[in-house]
Amino acid sequence: MPGQPKRLAHTSSYLSRPDCAGTFWEAYESGPHSSRANTCNARMPMKRPLLESSVEELKAWMTNRGHPGYHARQVFRWIFRHRAERFEAMSDLPKELRQQLDDEWTVFGTAVAHHNVGCDGTDKLLLECGDGRRVECVLMAEEDRRTVCISTQVGCGMGCVFCASGLKGVERNLTRGEIAEQVVRLRNLLPAGERVTHLVVMGMGESLANLDNLMGALDLICAPDGLGLGQRRVTISTVGLPEKIARLAAYDRQYHLAVSLHAPTEALRNELVPINEKVGLNAVIEAADAYFQRSGRQVTFEYVLLRGINDRPEDATALARLLAARKAHVNVIPYNPVAGLPYQRPTPEAIRRFVEAVRSLGVSISVRKTKGREIDAACGQLRRRFEGRPREAVPDPTI
Ligand code: SAH
Repeated sequence: MPGQPKRLAHTSSYLSRPDCAGTFWEAYESGPHSSRANTCNARMPMKRPLLESSVEELKAWMTNRGHPGYHARQVFRWIFRHRAERFEAMSDLPKELRQQLDDEWTVFGTAVAHHNVGCDGTDKLLLECGDGRRVECVLMAEEDRRTVCISTQVGCGMGCVFCASGLKGVERNLTRGEIAEQVVRLRNLLPAGERVTHLVVMGMGESLANLDNLMGALDLICAPDGLGLGQRRVTISTVGLPEKIARLAAYDRQYHLAVSLHAPTEALRNELVPINEKVGLNAVIEAADAYFQRSGRQVTFEYVLLRGINDRPEDATALARLLAARKAHVNVIPYNPVAGLPYQRPTPEAIRRFVEAVRSLGVSISVRKTKGREIDAACGQLRRRFEGRPREAVPDPTI
C-alpha cells in the first residue's frame, strides 16, 4: 500500500512474550520466597490492600481478633461512600481496631506517582503498584458526565502498531484491587457530592486478556454498596478476542462492548492489529454479533483514523459494507500521535469526508472527542513520558 509504514519490529514480539499470567496478589499470597514472587515483584507490599479482599474476608479477620464482624461493612462504606483513604479517618471504628487494621492492611495498594491536570480539566493519574510497576487512568468531566478510563494490564501484549501501550509488550495483569482502585482514586478527585457516571475500560492493556480480574473489579464498583455505578454505563473495549467475548457474554452483565476494528479488510487489519492474523476478521464480527444477541446491547466498533492508511474512500466503502446489515455503531477515534511512531492524524476535512462516506451508506457513525490530549491521554502515553522518574510527593486528602 503506497505510503503505508512497514510493520515495526516490535509488533511481532507479543507472540513470543510470556503473559505474566498470575496476578500480583497471587504472587503476594504465595509469599516472598516463591519463584513467581521473585520474578514478578521487586518490592513486596507489607500490608494487604483492602480492595483485593471482600467484606466476608475482612469480617473473618475481625472476628478472629475479637471484634464484631459488622465493622467490616463499615470499613468498606468509609472507602466507597465517604472517600476515606486512611483507617485513622474512620472515626466510628474503635481506635484499637483502626490501629490493628493499619498494622496489617492498607486502603490502597497503589501510590500516586504523578497527577496531571489538563487545561480542559481532565485528570490523569499515574499509579505505582506495590511492585513498582506503573499504570495510568483518567477522569474526564463533560457537562453532567464524569467518565473514568481505566487500565487492566501493565503494558499490552496485542502489539497494535500505532499504540504506545504495547511498545514493550505486556508485563503483567493488574489485580482486581488495582483495577478497582483506579476508579475509587479518580472518584476521590471529584468535588464532594459528584459521582462517577460512566466507566470506560480503554486505558492500558487488553481488557479481555484479564477478564476475571476485570469482572471482579467491576462487580465491586457496580455493587450498591460499592460505587453503585449502573452496568449499562460501563464500556469494555477489546482488540477482539472471540473466545473471551463469548465468556464475557456468559457473565450476563449489561456492559457495553466496544471492539477495536480499525480496518475493514483482513489484510489491513493484519497490518494494524497483528493479533488479527491469529483470530481473523470474521470471527471477531461473529463474536460481536453473538454478544449483541445475548446481551441485547448494540456493539460499538472503534476505528482509529490514521492518515493515508485506513482513511481512504475505499476503506470507508469496505467498512460500510461490512457493517451495514448489522445493528452496530462506529466510533471514529482521530489518531493521537505517539512520539517515535510514524502515524499521523488525518486533517479535519479528511475525517469529515470519511465519516460522511460511511454514513451515506447507512451505517451509524460518530467521531470521538479527544479530551486530555495535552496530558497524553491516549493509552500508554503518560506512563512512557514518566518512565524512570521518581514519585512526586502528593498530599493525602484525608490528613
Ligand atoms: N486493548 C483494548 C483497549 C485499548 S485502548 C482495545 O484494543 O480496545 C482503547 C482504544 O484506543 C483502542 O481502540 C485503541 O486501539 C485506541 N488507541 C490506542 N492508541 C491510540 C492513539 N495513539 N490514538 C488514538 N487511539 C488509540
